[in-house]
Amino acid sequence: MPREQKAVDWIPANIKIPAETETPGPFDLDLFPHVRGVLEALDDTDVRNIILPWAARNAKTTTGISALIYFAVCKPRPSIFASSNQDRTDDDINSKIYPMLESCAKTRDMLLPKHRRNKNFIYLRDSRIRRAFSGSPSTLAGFPACYFHASEISKWTKNKSSEANAIRLIGQRAKLYPFDRKGIYESTPGLKGECNIMALYRKATTQRRVRMVPCPHCGEYQKLVFGGKDEDGPGIKWKKGKNGRSDPILAEESAWYQCVNGCKIENFQRAEMMRAGLWVPEGMSVNEWGELIGEPKVRAKDVGFGPLSSLYSLVISGWGQIAREYLEALDDTEALRDFINSTLAEEWDPRPQTIEPHILAKRMCHGTSAGLLPDWSRFLTAGVDVQENGQRFVYVVSAWGEGGRGQEIKHGEAANFDNVVQHVLRRQWQFVDQGEPLHITQAFVDSGDQSELIYDLTRGLNGVLPVKGSGNKMETMYREAVLAPEKRRNRLASEEIKLIHINTTQSNEWLQRHFEGRRFKDEAEFLLSVDSRLDIDFLDQLLNEQKVREFDKNNRLQTRWVRINTSLPNDYRDALRYSRVAAIYCTNDGQLWNALPPRPEDARKQQQAARRSAMGASESFEARNFDDDFSAR
Ligand SMILES: [Zn+2]
Repeated sequence: MPREQKAVDWIPANIKIPAETETPGPFDLDLFPHVRGVLEALDDTDVRNIILPWAARNAKTTTGISALIYFAVCKPRPSIFASSNQDRTDDDINSKIYPMLESCAKTRDMLLPKHRRNKNFIYLRDSRIRRAFSGSPSTLAGFPACYFHASEISKWTKNKSSEANAIRLIGQRAKLYPFDRKGIYESTPGLKGECNIMALYRKATTQRRVRMVPCPHCGEYQKLVFGGKDEDGPGIKWKKGKNGRSDPILAEESAWYQCVNGCKIENFQRAEMMRAGLWVPEGMSVNEWGELIGEPKVRAKDVGFGPLSSLYSLVISGWGQIAREYLEALDDTEALRDFINSTLAEEWDPRPQTIEPHILAKRMCHGTSAGLLPDWSRFLTAGVDVQENGQRFVYVVSAWGEGGRGQEIKHGEAANFDNVVQHVLRRQWQFVDQGEPLHITQAFVDSGDQSELIYDLTRGLNGVLPVKGSGNKMETMYREAVLAPEKRRNRLASEEIKLIHINTTQSNEWLQRHFEGRRFKDEAEFLLSVDSRLDIDFLDQLLNEQKVREFDKNNRLQTRWVRINTSLPNDYRDALRYSRVAAIYCTNDGQLWNALPPRPEDARKQQQAARRSAMGASESFEARNFDDDFSAR
């Protein structure tokens, strides 16, 4: 009987990573040194399940597939490859598994010709790999399998009835093979509290192993961390610009890693450092000679390796690549979530950092006194929210200027809509510098669940439109719609209504960015009136909304904005949002931010100058007279 082939020898010697990937060529343990420990665990008869919460660029899927191929050749038994959904599973099979099987000399001839291949199985000479995916319990049930690779399990279905099922089902396939069974679960982490891979990793019966690498200067073995919060602590560091700000390009060029003892670890030292790394079970440590000492806290058949961030990857260009990706992701919640999950291999906590009202006041209440327009104001908008069956109206008036800058001018409540019209929408608003006053150009009134009432109240009012929040995927900040009489709740209605749909997500994101002090690079500032700093109720309402993410029935991640404290209102927040969207509406989806009408007195001067230049030289006398007349009026 031939000597048994070990995975740790066979895989690097036989597996080729296909040409279409980032790292084509042999499965090189010098390029992915952290994989060696996993291959050794495949050879360890005491290990049953392997759990890999790994970032991208660490070859976790390639490692799992390589294990299936190794077993198919060296210990043929039925196996399963499963991912989160059908498309992803098929894509992995067609773009990874088949190309790897075809480029491996040992398996190439075991495959069926392309036209005879079956969608549900990959047939090899002595075994087969079954295709399954989490959304389809039937693909995961009713047959035995000795080996399985469960890929990207944090994206596996969260449907309550089948939630635990998909993951449990695949584990149960191996019951008939108590001694030989081997399962690999891998994934980048997902949402905090719902993350399948971290739940397996944290189980009391999992032996957790952490990747420790030695500092090339002082030799101390340590876990790599991104750092950031503690300026002096370990982590990736980079030079900042003259203004003390971080710049992605400068950060990429200048980054280094600071060891726990303060040593400066450069990019050229990374490869050697990673290759000298060790997987250290919880409860054990590394002595100065690089030997494991102590006893593992858990002795178990399930072993978790990680979490392993992309800091350990030798496929990245260096520390600077991570620094740059971080800085470029900061502006965008989605990108930041991806950075946390896929690069740092950490769970994403969707709960925003709650902001205290006094912090918001300090950050934003630097505007003019309530009711007075800053000198840069060019036009005004208002947002009105309706409460208590039309018994109470909450409004916010905002001023807007060149480039999109803005300020909340005034907020308040009124007991009826007439008061809002008389004292807010139709009044003149004075400038702080005594210039000619402005009127409100556009007001948006939430029609919410009082739609017919609001249609009635706003009908015929120039510059006043009913609006509705829209949670649907809208590309733009607003959408104009015309509501036909037959679509109205009022069956007797005979006229159509112009209605504005407001993008709830985008308008909330805009507010939240300003509240959290993380505006886009060139985004204009928005302020609150200086008097608002004393109005805690107003500030509380502005802050009383947060974004939550949840999976819908189709396992798609959805975003919703909900009140943080459901017993407190957030009407001012809504009204402020509507005033913002009204400004975007007035500027034709933001296209006119640099072509706003001048202030009234400037407009007059411009008219005069235009008239003057339009007059011929011979008429200049007459023109002067005309000017005198005009200015005397
Ligand atoms: Zn050091």
